[in-house]
This record gives sequence, C-alpha cells and structure tokens, in this order.
Amino acid sequence: MIDDKTADAILQTKLDAISAKHLHVKRLDWLRKWNKLVDFLAIAVPAIYFTFRILAKGTAAGPFIEHIWEVLAGFLLVLTILKVAYGWQERAQKHGTLLGENIGLAGQAGNLLSERQTVSPESARLFFLLAESIEGNDRELFGRLSEEDRKYAYREGLKELKVDCTRCKSSPWEFIPGSCQQCGNTPKS
Ligand SMILES: [Zn+2]
Repeated sequence: MIDDKTADAILQTKLDAISAKHLHVKRLDWLRKWNKLVDFLAIAVPAIYFTFRILAKGTAAGPFIEHIWEVLAGFLLVLTILKVAYGWQERAQKHGTLLGENIGLAGQAGNLLSERQTVSPESARLFFLLAESIEGNDRELFGRLSEEDRKYAYREGLKELKVDCTRCKSSPWEFIPGSCQQCGNTPKS
C-alpha cells in the first residue's frame, strides 16, 4: 500500500515525465526537420548544379549558374558543419530514446497509482530511482531550459492529465500569458 504523500509524489513525477515528453517531441521535430533539409540539399544541390551546367554550357547563363552554385554550396557547407558540430543526428536519437523512456515512466506511474492499495513501498522506491535516472539524462540532454520552454511543457503536461495548475489554479486550456512562475498563465482570481 502506498500512502498519500508517496501517491502525490508519484503523480508529480508522472506530470514531470509527460512535460519532458512534450519537450523531447518539440526538439525532435526541430532536429528531424533540419536533418532532412541537410540530407536533401546534399543530394539536390549537386544534382541541380550539374544539370544546369550542362544545359547552360556555352550560353550567357553560364556565369550566372556558377554564381548560384557558389551560394548554394556555401549554404550547404554551413548547414553540414552545424549538423556535425552540434551532433544533430545523435541528439535526435537521444531525444527519441528519452521520449520513449518518459512515456514508459508516465505509464508506470499510472499503474502504481491505480493499484496503490496492493503495491509495495519497495515498488514505489524502485520507480523513483528509475525516474531520477531518466530525469538526469533529460537534464543532461536539454541543458539549460528557457523559462518559456519549461512553462510550455508544464502546460502540455497539465492538459494531458486534465488538471489545473497546482500553483495558480488556472486552466491550461485557457492560456493568457501571465505571472504564474510554474505554468506561465494568468492566475485565477
Ligand atoms: Zn500556474
């Protein structure tokens, strides 16, 4: 059996895991978009260049094509350097892994809470250990989160759990940017 205090902590952990899930999805979407663009340009830029070069050979458009090529090649080079230097591919993989782990953690929290009368305190202890390890990996990958991102993720977590903000009592569905430090909403008076 799990006491009320532990149940509250499990619910809070569930909310944190769902919030983290939304942050991972956001980062993953961004990284996938840019990774795809770099991969596409790496094929498209040379292909287009060679086609146009053959077509424009000996015509007045030749120098113009060369000029466009230089700009596109420069752009592609910058993107490729950014992709490698910031490890976009590896980061996307890590976000994907942690996304799955947070979903699993939130599910496990749900199971513990629905069976709280029969669950042993030992199971709860193991759950918190796992949560701690996943949260540590989240923090390492996210680095310093902006306030905006943190509040956005928190609101998405509230929506998923269908609850109001515990601090300002506002509903995450009615968002008017405000002073709440936890969810960024306007406190309900
Ligand atoms: Zn709030």
